[in-house]
Amino acid sequence: MFTSESVDYRMSLPPTFTSSYTPPLPQSLFPSDLDRYTQATITRAISIQQIASPTFLEEQRARYVAEQFRALGLSAVSIDDVYNVYGLLKGEHAGKALMISAHTDTVFPLDTDLTIKYVDDLIYGPGLGDNSLGVAGLLSLAEFFNGDKKPPCDIWFVAPSREEGLGDLGGMKVAFARLQPDIKAVINIEGMAFGFIYNGGIAVRRLHIVTKAEGGHSWLQFGKPSAVHNLMMIGAKIATLKPPTHPRTTYNIGVVQGGHSINSIATEAGMWLDMRSETSEELVKLEDHIRQIVAHSIQDEVQFEIKIVGDRPAGHIPDDHPLVQMALGALAYVGVAGVLETGSTDGNVPLAAGCPAVTIGLARGGNAHRLDEYIDPKPLADGLRQLVALTMWAGAWSG
Ligand SMILES: [Zn+2]
Repeated sequence: MFTSESVDYRMSLPPTFTSSYTPPLPQSLFPSDLDRYTQATITRAISIQQIASPTFLEEQRARYVAEQFRALGLSAVSIDDVYNVYGLLKGEHAGKALMISAHTDTVFPLDTDLTIKYVDDLIYGPGLGDNSLGVAGLLSLAEFFNGDKKPPCDIWFVAPSREEGLGDLGGMKVAFARLQPDIKAVINIEGMAFGFIYNGGIAVRRLHIVTKAEGGHSWLQFGKPSAVHNLMMIGAKIATLKPPTHPRTTYNIGVVQGGHSINSIATEAGMWLDMRSETSEELVKLEDHIRQIVAHSIQDEVQFEIKIVGDRPAGHIPDDHPLVQMALGALAYVGVAGVLETGSTDGNVPLAAGCPAVTIGLARGGNAHRLDEYIDPKPLADGLRQLVALTMWAGAWSG
């Protein structure tokens, strides 16, 4: 996911950017009918958004993307067991390929009202920016090369599943493992992140901590251990932890559930805990600490269980890495000063494995993961030109 409020994306002066990795590109490279091309991307985004695609239930959207991949001239189109979609575009030169990806899943359940609304210059729709627009950008890039233009190297177009929440980057983990021997770098697209370049992936671990007790009547059996009381004691201790700010390390108890009636001693309770850090080492320390808190706070006759429900690896490429420089150059090319970021995206997976990866955006928007999610398509034409420029440069890069 990615969250950014709609701001004037041209607030920074166009930087002059020169790098040996970003040689001039011919103007003729870009679509002469940029408006139509941009409009087609919005239309595609809406068509994709209209197909519900909750994490783990991406099959229908995957089939649609595969159909589009075929129609746009990609070869070797396939869908794997976890609903990742693959398509290959042959380039001018042999050698390692680029992988360009955009995830297909959303945080919204199957029965969500997906109606699109237009308000002023904004377009509202659950999942539209995160990440139907990213997938649409992938399709538009395939369309761009569907003719006489050829990228410098082979490109694997991939639409991974399971990026959000408990999907735990599961689609990308499978897709990357499959393609890793053949690829030199990954460009990952998040619809609303225009202007940002994610060159670092933070580490994320998620725990489900459950307590269980025999329970009883609140009056008659008062004093017997309660799963809820014990879980709250554990939560209270966790909530006092102060993890370091360098490297930035955070935790959040996002959901607590338990008990079944107000006058029953609770038999079961659970909390869902999200932990993040810029380094894997610091995250391990935090998790160890929390596991000790649980072990020391469990009362007699209470059982507990800690399940790992999320594990996203950390990884980073330096700011002066050629791929980062090319991504900055592509933004400078359209007059925008890029901002480097760390986050939790599909890019974590290649970065953790030592494969260069950046996550970039196409337009802006806000309220990601909410029903009133919207996109601001104004920067989209620049976002698409940026994507083409980066693809050409990264494609020509020897890796
Ligand atoms: Zn996303």
